[in-house]
Amino acid sequence: MNFTDLQLIDPILKALDEEGYTTPTPIQQQAIPPVIQGNDLLGCAQTGTGKTAAFAIPIIQRLYLARETDRKRKLISTLILTPTRELAIQIGESFAAYGRHTGLKHTVIFGGVSQHAQTNALKYGIDILVATPGRLLDLMQQGFVDLSTIKVFVLDEADRMLDMGFVHDVKKVIAKLPRQRQTLFFSATMPPAITQLANSILTNPVRVEVTPVSSTAETIQQAIYFVDKPNKKNLLTHLLKSNQMQRVLVFARTKHGADRVARDLNKQGFKAAAIHGDKSQNARQHALADFKAGKLRTLIATDIAARGIDIDDLSHVINYELPNVPETYVHRIGRTGRAGASGIAYSFCDAEEKPYLKDIEKTIGIKIPVVSNHPFPLVDFNPAPKPKQNAQGQRHKRGEDNRQNQSKRPKSTGFKRK
Ligand code: AMP
Repeated sequence: MNFTDLQLIDPILKALDEEGYTTPTPIQQQAIPPVIQGNDLLGCAQTGTGKTAAFAIPIIQRLYLARETDRKRKLISTLILTPTRELAIQIGESFAAYGRHTGLKHTVIFGGVSQHAQTNALKYGIDILVATPGRLLDLMQQGFVDLSTIKVFVLDEADRMLDMGFVHDVKKVIAKLPRQRQTLFFSATMPPAITQLANSILTNPVRVEVTPVSSTAETIQQAIYFVDKPNKKNLLTHLLKSNQMQRVLVFARTKHGADRVARDLNKQGFKAAAIHGDKSQNARQHALADFKAGKLRTLIATDIAARGIDIDDLSHVINYELPNVPETYVHRIGRTGRAGASGIAYSFCDAEEKPYLKDIEKTIGIKIPVVSNHPFPLVDFNPAPKPKQNAQGQRHKRGEDNRQNQSKRPKSTGFKRK
């Protein structure tokens, strides 16, 4: 199937062609036709499946064809609610890309930055608003946003909203929407609280389910490097010397750790930057933009900061530390090998992390191949005992990495079992 088979309007087909897209991904094939028809949608899918285009394309088409005088009257007709700033920015970029020949206007609002530019854009008048819940409520309370004219509402990453404690804010926003509207609901997992929320806001939805991020596993080449903790930085620089590593996302478990890895790399002459929750929004955007533009080959991220990062052509993901929650591993390696592209995921495992590796392999149902032929093999097989775990099996008490650990990712990963 091609995009041309989906009865899309020319301005969209032209934009997709410029983006280099020819074949819709499974979620796009299933979601675009019913959404164009005006149906509600319940989509069980996560980032990496092409879900952003799956909702953005039909929304652009509907708005373009139904364009009335709304924009002249500065009425917002579509609201997309998403949990993080990064996702909001990426969704905004998708609307800009796919809608570039339609004249539709959108803006993105999120917290952590001055509201001035955001309120100016709102005053100017937009068709599509992409927002995180906190800043949206704030601007609504200040009278900058009126949701009474919304015709299409998208709730993106609903389960993450729950994980991050945003559900009350989301419900407050929903209460301000007109009852008569089209609603598209996306979630990677469907725990009972999310099913309940979906049932309460959707009317006869079309259900679309695609296998989670791990379905890309067949295109991701995975490998384990056993290495002593103090040698991880040497192993990383050794690997970075390979020219095949064009764009590398390195995962660190803590913000502090991410900074340390970036510092070590820069000292060794490998340009790198860290992104995490303690960095200013500007610093994060700057690092991400340099990384996307290819000016920066290596980006070090914590799980929360990397959540939803959408970077084309990520050649490698490196787990500098193994996560203690197996589903986090699945999520991390899903950053590469996106939309059918191939990718490589390397994991560094010291003696202390071996139990995590065992859990990961049990969850994904495969034994990850080991690279034994490298200059820094594991020699310290009996390191200090592991830190005491609390009742949830978590090693950290506070901080963003702990929040990631609490998130429940799907048990069924779709990995092929041997
Ligand atoms: P998403 O799941 O929305 O985060 O999209 C994942 C990645 O796939 C993004 O980099 C998109 O630009 C890309 N993508 C989405 N749809 C397609 C498509 N039909 N063909 C090629 N790439 C796509």
